[in-house]
Amino acid sequence: MNGLEIDPFIAALPKVELHVHIEGTLTPALRWKLAHRNNISLPYKTYDELANSYKVTYNHRREVNGDNGAPTFLEAYFAGCQVLCTEDDFYELAMDYFKKAHEMNVRYVEPFFDTQAHTRRGIPAEAVLNGYLRAQQESVGKYSVRSNWIFCFLRDEALEDGLDAYRAALPWARTRDGKGKGLFHAVGLASNEYNRPPLLFEEAFRLAKEDGLHITMHCDVDQKDAVEHMHEAIFDICDGAGTERIDHGLNAIDREGLIPGLKSRGIGLTLCPHAYHRRQATEVLFPKIRRLWDEGVKICINSDDPTYMHNVWIDGNMMKVYKYCGFTKADMVTLVRNAVEISWADEGTKTEILKELELVIC
Ligand SMILES: [Zn+2]
Repeated sequence: MNGLEIDPFIAALPKVELHVHIEGTLTPALRWKLAHRNNISLPYKTYDELANSYKVTYNHRREVNGDNGAPTFLEAYFAGCQVLCTEDDFYELAMDYFKKAHEMNVRYVEPFFDTQAHTRRGIPAEAVLNGYLRAQQESVGKYSVRSNWIFCFLRDEALEDGLDAYRAALPWARTRDGKGKGLFHAVGLASNEYNRPPLLFEEAFRLAKEDGLHITMHCDVDQKDAVEHMHEAIFDICDGAGTERIDHGLNAIDREGLIPGLKSRGIGLTLCPHAYHRRQATEVLFPKIRRLWDEGVKICINSDDPTYMHNVWIDGNMMKVYKYCGFTKADMVTLVRNAVEISWADEGTKTEILKELELVIC
């Protein structure tokens, strides 16, 4: 956090997290434990060596930034996934996250997950889905954290693979016919977007929409063709209806027409400031976030992959915009209200959190 302490006001604020990849919350401690439990060898001799490996700033995308000798973020992230093998492992990963969420006063979460990163290692999709489902159900009573999950297509894999994974996972969805198990209620698009625009997955999004699921997609910051991807997400996807939400989307400020498109279509952005702060200077980044806010785009603050991003979680991300965007306490409450409004929580959950926010003293 570069010496930035979390203010008690930020710590106490009720929170909603709409952009966190569950595998991006795998702590070095749990990775170490699962590696031993599952007999998976790690390229680190001691726990300290493993923990120290998280201190680097990863090369975000080698295709975009060139090779600087550091591992890429996705290499580190998928290397971490190797230790997740059984239903209990996925359950434990999610419960660890929910415990942490509870400690940060997070009331409601929409975690991203995928099955493709696991089935391609020979792990059955059922192990992933049942582990998360059990955690989703238990976290309500144990940690008072509710969640609806988002199934992600890995965009650097073939569409057909994604469709197969989606069909296999569908019994765990909360679909229109009400027969699903209720784990996920939306689909997203994650992983490396280099030369992988949203429209390549048009069929997948249309299918999910027919099944009654919500639609979101990553438009990561400063990627190749970032503004073209934003344009597709806002105006072209789903037969021109557009996406419901965009994950990141900071590049909306870089092309005329994108901000009005976001506003007229009511598309919210799930921003993860620390993820960008690793790559952009304070005085460059935070005025951009401030501009989206001043223009009236519905933004909310999230964490992305906290354990791979210097252990900065949603509270740290909120602290950063509180400090560097010059937001007031009332603005911080509005940011959480935005998250509630662009979430797909049921009305009861939304009302409860909004009521709690009314009681926050600014
Ligand atoms: Zn993300």
